[in-house]
Amino acid sequence: MPMKGHRTKQDKTICRVGDVRPSTDMRDVMTSDATARSGASGRPRVVVVGGGFAGIAAVRSLKRVDVDIVLVDRHIYNMFQPLLYQVATAGLNPGDVTYFLRALRYRQNNVNYRQGLLWKVDADQRVITLKDGEELDYDYLILANGVTTNYMGTPGAKERAKAIYTRSQALKIRDEVFRRLEAAAADPSHSQGLNIVIVGGGATGVEMAGALAELRNQGLYFAYPEIAQDHIQITVVQRSAELLKPFKPRLRAYARRSLEKRGVDLRLGSGVKEVHADCVELADGTQVPADLVIWAAGVRAHDEVAEWGFEQEWGGRVKVGPDMRVLGHQRIFAVGDVAISGDDLPQLAQPALQGGKYVARAIANDLRGRPTEPFKYTDKGTMATIGRRAAVAQIRGLPAMTGPIAWYMWAVVHVFQLLGGRNRVATFANLATRYGQFWRVHPNPIIGEIRPVRLHGDREPDGTGNAASAAETDDVAQTDDIASADGSTSA
Ligand SMILES: Cc1cc2nc3c(=O)[nH]c(=O)nc-3n(C[C@H](O)[C@H](O)[C@H](O)COP(=O)(O)OP(=O)(O)OC[C@H]3O[C@@H](n4cnc5c(N)ncnc54)[C@H](O)[C@@H]3O)c2cc1C
Repeated sequence: MPMKGHRTKQDKTICRVGDVRPSTDMRDVMTSDATARSGASGRPRVVVVGGGFAGIAAVRSLKRVDVDIVLVDRHIYNMFQPLLYQVATAGLNPGDVTYFLRALRYRQNNVNYRQGLLWKVDADQRVITLKDGEELDYDYLILANGVTTNYMGTPGAKERAKAIYTRSQALKIRDEVFRRLEAAAADPSHSQGLNIVIVGGGATGVEMAGALAELRNQGLYFAYPEIAQDHIQITVVQRSAELLKPFKPRLRAYARRSLEKRGVDLRLGSGVKEVHADCVELADGTQVPADLVIWAAGVRAHDEVAEWGFEQEWGGRVKVGPDMRVLGHQRIFAVGDVAISGDDLPQLAQPALQGGKYVARAIANDLRGRPTEPFKYTDKGTMATIGRRAAVAQIRGLPAMTGPIAWYMWAVVHVFQLLGGRNRVATFANLATRYGQFWRVHPNPIIGEIRPVRLHGDREPDGTGNAASAAETDDVAQTDDIASADGSTSA
């Protein structure tokens, strides 16, 4: 049964005229079709596509505005991407970084959630079509659907490397690490090990490498005495000569030293030419052995964005004006990672959060007939963590920071940015036990459901190998995600 205001192909009811009063400033918005579509309440309907940073910020900022909101997301949860690498490295449970989108209703009754994937936009009719064929009409549409991994056409990358953009991808990395370690431990020749290559030396690559190095140094070396220490290798490959390019040189140098101190092999200044089954080939011809390749380089818009009929920029981002409206469309906004304006804002949480709040304000102003100033981004700074009490932070108004102070600041900011009290408490507890003590601790990793040995026959054929990742796009991730997440336990 479709929600109120939703239309199936069989039931194309014309929405009744609502009570939006056109004002002088709204005239350009309203002249093409003086009927405002409205929900059952008679209020204008705002459809928000994407329940990430930008989408949630927009929804929450519309709480006191007299509108009905429909939040559409392909997942039933919001995911806190900045801590995803902690899930991939067995430090956090997947549920710690996800928030049930319908729980937004506990505090806001003008929002309804609909699971779906935006497939088509008919801007003339003001109707969107979801992948399952259902249609939703809108008075305002906010596109906040983020981006996905960009393999940049590197041969073998899509088929063999593992991306880290969704929860299921993070769980697959985690489970693959432990599956391969068990195989290496069972190898009677003791010649097997685990070579992990991380492609990309930006914040995600550095954080991933640092967390894996901590896990290896504090935990895996002790838990797997069968595997020689130098058989577990972590390598970062970065095209440019420096890590963490957006950070100040002093912070970049600190990050480099910190990773090297933790035994991470850095291959800087040479990009990846091809990903092979057992190695990564660099542009200079070097072959770096690789059992597991993690792709942390580059993003692009989701494929379906090309179906929507909007002007797109490099990486498929939707072009918006200074007020975040999609070029040529008064009633459609794009915000967060998927949008690109003249300012070319970084694809980070803060621009998405601030942009989400801004478009909510712009809609409220439209409805009241007031103008809205162009969007102005306030750069509050940026941070990245490397490991136990090692992080870099450049915060607006403060001197550049490294070490424990930066680490504690990073931890506080990330824990408080999470949605949901339970997530904050659980994340705080898990991070504190992993990194918080001043003495050395073994990390007690959070492990998943590695294929068990069966009574009749050997282990089940494994579906988590690299071959599986060829098809592992966001589109197919959901079912695996549920199975894997449920199987997670804190060891
Ligand atoms: C591993 C990782 C670590 C990161 N670390 C940091 C960090 O430390 N600091 C920082 O500032 N930024 C970080 N980022 C970047 C930051 O997470 C993004 O900039 C931010 O999430 C963008 O917010 P958004 O709302 O635009 O998109 P997202 O948060 O990605 O949300 C998009 C939502 O849209 C949904 N969706 C996608 N397509 C469709 C569709 N067609 N129909 C319906 N729903 C759809 C998705 O399910 C998702 O819920 C990190 C990103 C990653 C991947």
